[in-house]
Amino acid sequence: MAEIDPGEYDVAELTAKIKEIENPDVLREILAAEEAGEDRGPVKTVIESRIEKFTEEAEAVDAADLDPGDLTLAELGNVLTDVDDPEVLEGLLEREEAGEDRKGGVRLIEQRIDSVSGSEEAEAAEVESPEEKYPELDHPTADKQYVGTLAGGVYEDMWVYCETQVGDLIDVSREMLGKAREIMDGYNERYDADERVVAVLIGDDVASLAEEAVACGADVVVYREDPELERFRHKAYAEVFAALAREDAEWRDYDEPRYALFPATNNGRDLSAQVQAELDSGLASDCSDLYVDDTVVSNPAKTGGSGQKREFERVLHMKRPDFSGFEYSTILCLDSPTRDFHPQGASVIPGSFDLPEPDASREGEVIESDVDLDEDWFHVEVTEHDRLEGGIDLTGYDVIVALGRGIGDDPTRGMELGLELRDAFDDAELGISRGIVTSSYDFEGHVAQYAREERQIGETGQVVEPDLYVAAGISGAVQHKVGMDESGTIVAINTDPDADIREFSDYFIEGDLFEVLPRLAESLEAGELTLPAGGD
Ligand code: FAD
Repeated sequence: MAEIDPGEYDVAELTAKIKEIENPDVLREILAAEEAGEDRGPVKTVIESRIEKFTEEAEAVDAADLDPGDLTLAELGNVLTDVDDPEVLEGLLEREEAGEDRKGGVRLIEQRIDSVSGSEEAEAAEVESPEEKYPELDHPTADKQYVGTLAGGVYEDMWVYCETQVGDLIDVSREMLGKAREIMDGYNERYDADERVVAVLIGDDVASLAEEAVACGADVVVYREDPELERFRHKAYAEVFAALAREDAEWRDYDEPRYALFPATNNGRDLSAQVQAELDSGLASDCSDLYVDDTVVSNPAKTGGSGQKREFERVLHMKRPDFSGFEYSTILCLDSPTRDFHPQGASVIPGSFDLPEPDASREGEVIESDVDLDEDWFHVEVTEHDRLEGGIDLTGYDVIVALGRGIGDDPTRGMELGLELRDAFDDAELGISRGIVTSSYDFEGHVAQYAREERQIGETGQVVEPDLYVAAGISGAVQHKVGMDESGTIVAINTDPDADIREFSDYFIEGDLFEVLPRLAESLEAGELTLPAGGD
């Protein structure tokens, strides 16, 4: 039975009575009685608005009394979603800063303050999830058990997975650390932040590499070493990286890394895809440039379909070559209104960035992790292993003769002609374009070895700077160009007078390589021709 029977009063009398009541439960009882009786619209509006007012105040009082230091970051995040009063939020912020002053706590409260001050953003955050919106469709990833999807999580730092080989960092690991340093220096200045470059080392006996990682640009090195991790194993390495990215650790107070970089090597590609899937995020593979910027998008999947554009801050822009390098795409990995996509992850093509000059005076924090290793991760047993021969080093020769898909009419003969020209010089070696590596040419046995990737020149191959570079049947794609355009003199042989390579060649011979190469070799051997070397 309600405290007052609304049916006994007219609207004016009842409104006056209701205005004396502040208890939301009592008001709810009166509302129920009104709905069961006369069900008058104006009366219900008055009661409902008072219920709302005093419920919010009660919640606000709770939050107003709260010490955020008593809560974990996740609990604090949950509490904040119910607090809309900026004054209460400011109070919480002051108490967090005066108390534990966790970066993550401060960030969460500040984000909530921004959110309640901008009503558009608050509305966008109330969008239904795809699972709620389309219950009739399959949502195969909705209940992925290993996924810890976050919304409104706290993210910081750029993590760099540092691949090693036979006990050393490989060059691309150093290159990524140098680039990460450059990006995060700019980031910290622009956003007035203090976020770090975190090098991740996994293996056996990797602690010794921490110093070099710091010298190359890391602020923190976190490593997990164990004899079981001596060789790269897809499952174990991916699980360890994901566990490091998620674990509660003293040296950091955020949910997951903001950004993650991996090398686009065989193992790095393998690892990056699995790790990013484990962390329920995305991956831009084979990137050759990276930068951080703000961006505005109108895509409904990212804005919540409100028709409003949404601004995303601090977005990693990941550039990668497409369509054989004739076009560059910029990939963004943006949070949705109901689900975060962090870390924003990329794999990086080796050689895309300069090797940093190591700075031995840099200081960094080195953290040994003891995340548990599950024996299930080691089902694959490595019974034996072999080290491949070192491959061909094309740097340091006076002359490089490089062949491309122009040999396609008779690949074996084309290769033989390239080798004959190579042999006509005193100090020369044979290189190839990626066009040959990825072709399905059927080379005869004696020349097949020259078509291997180890001789590829370019962005994903070797970078050479000989005095003389002879490019026969190569079109001059940008990925090839970056591996040879510092050569002293470039001579191109091509049937197409408009081939791109013409633009950066010193001499362009319009002709069929099957005719031109033997004539060059003969003339050289006969001493009739001295090809320019050492010029520019
Ligand atoms: P094509 O582009 O097919 O050119 C063949 C040329 O031969 C043409 O110009 C044609 O006019 C000429 N020709 C045909 N017949 C004759 C003849 N009888 N005599 C003379 N000329 C003839 N490429 C690399 O080389 N190195 C790399 O490191 C590299 N990395 C890459 C990385 C990524 C991520 C991507 C997407 C691509 C990469 N590529 C790389 C591939 C690159 O984009 C080109 O596809 C490749 O360089 C083309 O090889 P090509 O010039 O031999 O073949």
